[in-house]
Formats: sequence, structure tokens, C-alpha cells
Amino acid sequence: MIYILLGLPGAGKGTQGELLSRKLGIPKISTGDILREAVKKGTPLGLKAKEAMDRGELVSDDIVIGIVKEKLQSDDCSRGCILDGFPRNIPQAEELDRIDGNVFAIYINVPEEEVIKRLCARRVCPSCGALYNLITNPPRDDEKCDRCGTPLIQRDDDKEEVIRERIRVYREKTEPIINYYRERGKLVEVDGHGSINEVFSRLEAAL
Ligand code: AMP
Repeated sequence: MIYILLGLPGAGKGTQGELLSRKLGIPKISTGDILREAVKKGTPLGLKAKEAMDRGELVSDDIVIGIVKEKLQSDDCSRGCILDGFPRNIPQAEELDRIDGNVFAIYINVPEEEVIKRLCARRVCPSCGALYNLITNPPRDDEKCDRCGTPLIQRDDDKEEVIRERIRVYREKTEPIINYYRERGKLVEVDGHGSINEVFSRLEAAL
């Protein structure tokens, strides 16, 4: 089974996906993480993706579909996986159905004002990738990573102007795929309010 996480940027897809990945023992694949890593390393893929990412727009379908296809064919994903950040539009959802129709979507519903607050407070460890939130999930020591001690950073696209553009793109391109899966009976909706554990308990119950 391929689980898909849907919801506004900042709805908790990465965090909940991580917990689900541990519980089910299958990997979580985040197209955003893969693209950010490529940008950091300056690979040809990163160079192609950077401009769109900096503006909060979507990277071209060819690029992300290529990444996902390769991952899904790897041994790691033989028992399934969790996709975080893919599909992001109807053509990507249709392509995923052609690659493997055994998909199920989890829509984490959080209102827009709440995600803007969360994203402005989001911090990430540039070394190990751990996610924090200065309000809901702060690191123990100031702004340093609990796991490895590296000073935390704010993602470039978590600045307020870029967040607004990412939300606009989400409404226009990504939101329609909620209905795409709902109409096919392949979607559960989870209320994304509250603590990480509260949301995860709802998610487990919904599955
Ligand atoms: P995320 O970490 O999922 O918010 O993704 C960060 C950025 O990576 C997005 O704003 C897009 O520019 C790009 N991106 C990630 N996944 C996709 C995708 N499936 N399709 C197109 N662009 C993507």
C-alpha cells in the first residue's frame, strides 16, 4: 500500500508521516526533502528545481515523477511507503495511479491561519533533518537540535511571502486532488488540530 499525505503546507504531513513510517515499518518519501538535498548539493536536479522552490511554486511534473518512480522501484519500498508532498496536482495523481493503483490518501485538515502561524515558527536541523516548532515542539536547548546539537535554521520557503504563495499554489493545484481520492473512496480525513500525539491517535483510529 502507498499512503499519501495531503494537507496545506504546515498541516503536519512530515511529522505525522514520520510517526506512521515508524509504526508501519515502511519508509517515508518526501519529494520536498529530496529536492532540498539536491539544491544543497548543487546537483543538476537541484539547479533545475531551485528557482521554482525559492518562489514557492511547483517544480515540473517530469522531475518529481522521475524521482518518485525511481524510489517506488527500489527494494526499500517493496512493502509500500508513505508519500509526503506527492502528488501535488491532478496529473501527478493520475501518473501515480498508472505506476501503482494501490494508494490510500490521508488528508490532515488544519485551517489556513493556523498553518501560517505554525510555518513561521517551524525550524529544521540542517544536519540531520529533525523538525521542530518553536511553539508546539520546541528544542530543549535554545534553537539547537536535540539529536545532534546543530543550530536550527528556518527553511528559505518558510518566510511569510513565500508561505502565502505556497498556500495559493496549494489551493489552485493540490486541493483538487482531495476530491480526486474522495470520489474514488480512497481518502480519510483527519482533524489536524492539537498536539502531535493527539493528531496521530486520530490518524491511527481513522486507518
Ligand atoms: P514541501 O517540503 O513538500 O513543502 O516541498 C517544498 C517545495 O518543493 C515545494 O514548494 C515545491 O517547490 C517542491 N515540490 C515538492 N514536492 C513537489 C511535487 N510533488 N511537485 C512539484 N513540486 C514539488
